[in-house]
Amino acid sequence: YADSAMYLAKRSGRNDFRFYSKDLTASAEERLTLESELRRAIERGELELHYQPKVHLQNGTIFGSEALLRWRHPKRGMIPPDQFIRIAEETGLITELGHWVLREACETATELNADGLPLHKVAINLSAREFQCQDLSKTVADCLEMTGCRAEWIEIEITESLLLNEKDGTLETLSRLRSMGISIAIDDFGTGYSALNYLSRYPIDTLKIDRSFINSTNKSSAELVKAILSIARCLGQNVVAEGVETVGQAAFLAANGCEAAQGFLYSRPLPKSEIMRLPRRVGDTGLTV
Ligand code: C2E
Ligand code: MG
Ligand code: MG
Ligand code: MG
Repeated sequence: YADSAMYLAKRSGRNDFRFYSKDLTASAEERLTLESELRRAIERGELELHYQPKVHLQNGTIFGSEALLRWRHPKRGMIPPDQFIRIAEETGLITELGHWVLREACETATELNADGLPLHKVAINLSAREFQCQDLSKTVADCLEMTGCRAEWIEIEITESLLLNEKDGTLETLSRLRSMGISIAIDDFGTGYSALNYLSRYPIDTLKIDRSFINSTNKSSAELVKAILSIARCLGQNVVAEGVETVGQAAFLAANGCEAAQGFLYSRPLPKSEIMRLPRRVGDTGLTV
């Protein structure tokens, strides 16, 4: 950090070296603070999962939700995952964090699927780093047993990069999870690389179209959405459109055969108490579509 600050300051040719240097040093320090605070956040109960509903585009029925991690920091307030997942990955804290997420999400899934209620699948984000931990499938199996959660009640969301930078054991782990009855979704689909061959090599149930395609006004984005829907149809995969914010976007997706969506149009991610209260029978979801 210090070196690049000096470089930037020299290049800028202005007398603002001190300013840059102080600024960047502060952020390195801040990172260290955040790291040690994150270490304690789990035991102090500062982490929370919020759940964003996934809905059927035709009738607005909620069929599941995505668990999204939040850190309720005592001084900084609510911190979104983009601001600490990377630190967690780089320091190895992600293992402990991931276990907490898994357990919490499975507990919620068990409650959401209590007797008689229609299926509500809870999706769990796993980063590539979590796949490098040995025995991920065993960790998941233990977690299901401990929480009384059935495999059909959860889904794992992974990103394309995991499948593209193929590491030993990825295919095996995914196949094991799949054979346990857990479904697998590709998150942010279309933002990785165009190596589509992995789609036929890996056991994948669902493609989640990245929100950059959904909220673009670019004509070619619309064509790409249609192309993705067509790929999914051919391969027998489900599709969820991410980041749907307007009625127009929902209408376009429905008209082109997309079955499911997620986004602020329907709901923001909700705390557990609120997702538990949302009715799920057709007609009384309370969501306007
Ligand atoms: P993601 O899995 O692609 O999650 C979707 C993100 O889009 C979420 O951001 C969600 O709040 C946001 N979003 C949903 N609908 C809309 C919309 O209509 N408009 C816009 N502009 N945004 C929308 P969030 O919660 O900040 O999460 C960011 C990323 O952090 C996630 O992207 C995921 O990659 C990662 N993440 C979240 N929770 C976990 C976790 O428990 N474990 C791991 N490993 N990663 C996580
Ligand atoms: Mg996700
Ligand atoms: Mg996504
Ligand atoms: Mg993402």
